[in-house]
Amino acid sequence: MTRFDLRSDQIPTAWYNALPDLPAPLEPPLHPATNQPVGPDDLMPLFPMGLIGQEVSTEAWIDIPGEVIDILRLWRPTPLVRAERLEQALGTPARIYYKDESVSPAGSHKPNTAVPQAFYNAAEGITRLTTETGAGQWGSSLAFAAAQFDIECKVYMVRASYEQKPYRRILMETWGASVVPSPVADPTSPGSLGMAISDAVADAAPRADTHYALGSVLNHVLLHQTIIGLEAKDQLALAGEDRPDVVISSCGGGSNLAGLALPFMGDPEVRLVAVEPSSCPTLTEGAFEYDFGDTAGMTPLLPMYTLGHDFMPPSIHAGGLRYHGDAPIISNLVQHGRMEAIAYPQGKTFEAAVRFARTEGKVPAPETGHAIRGAIDEALAAKEAGEERVILFNYSGHGFLDLAAYDDYLNGRLIDV
Ligand SMILES: *Cc1c(COP(=O)(O)O)cnc(C)c1O
Repeated sequence: MTRFDLRSDQIPTAWYNALPDLPAPLEPPLHPATNQPVGPDDLMPLFPMGLIGQEVSTEAWIDIPGEVIDILRLWRPTPLVRAERLEQALGTPARIYYKDESVSPAGSHKPNTAVPQAFYNAAEGITRLTTETGAGQWGSSLAFAAAQFDIECKVYMVRASYEQKPYRRILMETWGASVVPSPVADPTSPGSLGMAISDAVADAAPRADTHYALGSVLNHVLLHQTIIGLEAKDQLALAGEDRPDVVISSCGGGSNLAGLALPFMGDPEVRLVAVEPSSCPTLTEGAFEYDFGDTAGMTPLLPMYTLGHDFMPPSIHAGGLRYHGDAPIISNLVQHGRMEAIAYPQGKTFEAAVRFARTEGKVPAPETGHAIRGAIDEALAAKEAGEERVILFNYSGHGFLDLAAYDDYLNGRLIDV
């Protein structure tokens, strides 16, 4: 057996909240103007109370609303697959499993949080959402979710991607969203995620009918993603495994990593590993300090590993990993030694992605290539040590809309930063 499926009535009915179980309490977000801890009042112009409550909740489990489960059921539970052909090609005694989040409508893990975010906003009478997107994975996920609740969706897309990568824009428009290039104020700038966040927040803050939605980083986003790891736990049991020895994911803001890893956090035998690009090495080379989530300094200050809110990463193909900071929860785990972090140049991640495609068949997103690189190196280390390690990684998305990146790699045009 190489594929371990749960029935659709085995979908988890509550999210796991890691906040009470972190190695140390999270430091609070600070107001950008006063430097005082932000309260619900500060967040209400941007987020519904349902999500603000989750941002600070100390409940261990939070029920998933039935309406949300009904939509998640369109593609969940997602498969857990044993990558036996990859194992054989590597000649490793390790057993490699991946959780396939690429089967969602938008092709990544991001709809797992887009759906509940749209739900809580709709439930509180919000009729319009704004957001930012890099290459378009988050924007397309929110566009899909907004369509499910008849909410208008406006996406500020990093200009370089808007111009070079039309397909995800078309996907967003197909789901009914309107998409504009960011920064709006400077048509000569290629833009960045931080700038697009500033645009989306500036649009939402003054309007009563509009809220803002963020695709990663915040506690409630990571909470929604824990459905990944909760399913994976049940599926590993189906595969006859007691536990993974190591859990590996790519890390941009940290949501797919948290989603898979947090449900395993309580078991000290399980190593947790973040993989990031060496061109945007937030966890491996950033400083742990309070920083803004956006470029313009409009968002609350978050305690996180950061390269500085004005950091402009080189334009690597893994657009979803080009963020200057990391989720406070992920930063907390790394700071206190509960999670490891490694960084790779993109050439090594594409090499791994192509190896995966040629053995397992599926073509991964460039972001996912980072997790695959981490898993392959772990499997090779197990071979070296002669150990039967159980490796679990997150297959966060497919690469069908990133084929131009593969073309660059296969034809020697990739800048290997
Ligand atoms: C957005 C994205 C990521 C990175 O975001 P996280 O919040 O760190 O998970 C990774 N993989 C894919 C396919 C993505 O779309």
